[in-house]
Amino acid sequence: MATNEDLFKQIIAHAKEYGYIFPSSEIYDGMSAVYDYAQLGVELKNNIKQYWWKAMVQFHENIVGIDSAIFMHPTIWKASGHVDAFNDPLIDNKDSKKRYRADVLIEDFLSKIDDKIEKEVEKAKKKFENFDEALFRQTNARVLENVKKKEDITNRFAQLMNDSDLVGLKGLIEELGITCPISGSRNWTDVRQFNLMFSTQMGSVSEGADTVYLRPETAQGIFVNFLNVYKTGRMKLPFGIAQIGKAFRNEIVARQFIFRMREFEQMEMQFFVKPGEELKWFEHWKEERMKWHLSLGIDASQFRFHDHDKLAHYANAATDIEFNFPFGFKELEGIHSRTDFDLKQHEEFSGKKLRYFDPEMNENYIPYVVETSIGVDRMFLAVFSNAYNQETLEDGSVRTVLRLPAKLAPIKAAILPLIKKDGMPEKAREIMDMLKHDFMCQYDDKDAIGRRYRRQDAIGTPFCITIDSQTFEDNTVTIRERDSMQQYRVSGEILAEEIRRKM
Ligand code: ATP
Repeated sequence: MATNEDLFKQIIAHAKEYGYIFPSSEIYDGMSAVYDYAQLGVELKNNIKQYWWKAMVQFHENIVGIDSAIFMHPTIWKASGHVDAFNDPLIDNKDSKKRYRADVLIEDFLSKIDDKIEKEVEKAKKKFENFDEALFRQTNARVLENVKKKEDITNRFAQLMNDSDLVGLKGLIEELGITCPISGSRNWTDVRQFNLMFSTQMGSVSEGADTVYLRPETAQGIFVNFLNVYKTGRMKLPFGIAQIGKAFRNEIVARQFIFRMREFEQMEMQFFVKPGEELKWFEHWKEERMKWHLSLGIDASQFRFHDHDKLAHYANAATDIEFNFPFGFKELEGIHSRTDFDLKQHEEFSGKKLRYFDPEMNENYIPYVVETSIGVDRMFLAVFSNAYNQETLEDGSVRTVLRLPAKLAPIKAAILPLIKKDGMPEKAREIMDMLKHDFMCQYDDKDAIGRRYRRQDAIGTPFCITIDSQTFEDNTVTIRERDSMQQYRVSGEILAEEIRRKM
């Protein structure tokens, strides 16, 4: 059986081989943590963005979208706290010369304790009939010891992070005996702070040029446009502003394909509410966002909430929606109740009032904000890795199939003449011309039909439409479904409707 690591490698290779994702600048040996979306990848990515946009903007009368510039006034990043505090603690191993995030080394250590606990539970489950898991967790000495150990380390770790205590973090890494996965040694440098923002110069003469930053999140573009949108859109609380766009972070450790990139895309929505109502809305958006994920048909067991133990100083509630990636459960989306922190900061730094006039209370105030923030690329990886399957068929052959949700699949229908003669290619082209107004379609007449089906399975096309001699007799075509591989005939007249119904 393939290990998770093997599986992840297969997924990355598949993404490249079938035109989903290429390493950036590959002919120049690539760029670390930067990737290009290929011909099918861009379709899947666009479909994800559209699915989100529809759910957030089109389906909500009180949410509107914007598209703000990547370059923004440098003071914005002072006000938001990114210049002073958007840091990660980094540490190097002196033997392997590899760089790590100190906090991630400790988090990995904590998840190993979790694994130990789960192993103990699994072992006991197999051993005893009528196994009472809850009771076992409450009474087994080894489980209890590990739970306590984890709690202890978690508390100390949270405190050290809170205090930005870099010496303490190094101390904890040494005390826990954490070794470098490459060299296996404990020969660590001191922990240093590293700002994740990329900076560049704006202006034609370098002496007179201003330092500007590539935005590390899209949210600030929304906050600084709050007043413009509120006034021009005649918005009433509660209301939301949504945005999809590029963000840039100089990540220290970026080794998980498109999970952690230096240039990526975010889909963010800031929901402005009356102060005091934010926790109600926080719960609302938690639920709504989870529903959105589940609406794609991915099994609920692949998602979980992870409430933050340690809240940022401006937040009064925060949770992550984690997804079970090939390398374990990791953050896919963040939902944060950010109070009035950002607007207040921008009021102070810009000197402009950023207030809402509440006609019922006859009062001006700064609204509170609940945000939902998801990475497009992480969503891509979640959908893609969940869809990737290798299955052994009855005849012993192995089929590689991408079980992508039909709504997101790059190609919805492949149009395939059974053979390349007897007018079938022409008829297939006719059907293609009809369907392409509604769906992304692909025409293919090369190789035997079975091989063509397999090719479409590998790129995740949910429906193959085959044109054969019977098509000329009764105007029916065969639909072959990707997941079940079942085939049935439908009339050419209702083909588009049938595909739409199936999706
Ligand atoms: P992490 O802890 O994994 O670094 P984060 O908490 O810094 O993530 P946020 O600042 O909350 O992430 O960003 C919101 C979302 O943007 C994340 O949930 C994730 O989906 C996405 N994201 C953040 N950083 C990256 C990155 N380097 N590459 C790809 N997506 C990212």
